[in-house]
Amino acid sequence: MSKVGVVGAGTMGNGIAHVFAQHGWDVSLVDLEPEALERALKTIATNIERLVRKGVGSRESGAGTLARIKASTSFDAVKGAEILVEAATENPKIKFEIFATVSRLLAPDSILASNTSSISITELAKHTDRPGKVIGMHFMNPVPLMPLVEVVRGHLTDDETVRRVVEVVEELKKTPVIVNDSSGFVSNRVLMPMINEAIFCVDEGVATPEAVDQVMKLGMNHPLGPLALADLIGLDVCLAIMKVLQDGLDVHKYRPAPLLEQMVAKGQLGRKSGQGFYAYRD
Ligand code: NAD
Repeated sequence: MSKVGVVGAGTMGNGIAHVFAQHGWDVSLVDLEPEALERALKTIATNIERLVRKGVGSRESGAGTLARIKASTSFDAVKGAEILVEAATENPKIKFEIFATVSRLLAPDSILASNTSSISITELAKHTDRPGKVIGMHFMNPVPLMPLVEVVRGHLTDDETVRRVVEVVEELKKTPVIVNDSSGFVSNRVLMPMINEAIFCVDEGVATPEAVDQVMKLGMNHPLGPLALADLIGLDVCLAIMKVLQDGLDVHKYRPAPLLEQMVAKGQLGRKSGQGFYAYRD
């Protein structure tokens, strides 16, 4: 049986653990916060139930999925994993430390992947003992439903690692798209400036959040408006990505909207905090 370690049990980590377990992998889900692990297991159970109601899988296979996920606050739990997917907070210092820790714990041929939205895979690789085995596996939110995984080839990633990760993504019934390591990769380099511009529109009184989202949904055929999407992603994550684009590409072109900075400072992070551009129950 293949084993995957997932580090970080937030919005993305719980979804990543869910899809690996759904496809027969043993999963060790690690987070520093016991509450985050508890929340993640609850979310996975709720999402399995939702999928069963939609006719995707049976109650028995759902129970099997849950049983394959072991939650732990200790990094030792990832020992023996073939692949580790890091999905912790989007902060380079935190990720550098995690990569250094897991490279001490895992066999030298294990793959170390990051779900980072924007941090350089090549930089992450430098904090490990195996730069050739470090790669980006950028899942999309919500993970159980979204078909894409952006596979990010760092400057040091070897061909065998890319080949194996593509194979694993296909095993998870998702579509891998290979891109090179550059700030924001493709997905966020294109998406985040649009979200940021939508926030500028609200900030400058051009339109309400509802109006901005309506324009993009009805006029551009987007299934979700950019501000509802920002709430789903997490405004702290959006701000962190804009800062990476600013640092890596162009300080003026990628300036975060002041309203985005203010909302994050106030703890209005979107769905996960209950308040963003919209209010959320639960
Ligand atoms: P989140 O804030 O929901 O969860 C992050 C989790 O990491 C928290 O539970 C936190 O306790 C944990 N954590 C922090 N430091 C840790 C450490 N040292 N060891 C173990 N766990 C630690 O964040 P998220 O939205 O799930 O984002 C996770 C990663 O996925 C980020 O790199 C983000 O850029 C990326 N990502 C996010 C989205 C999205 O839509 N939210 C989409 C694609 C990629």
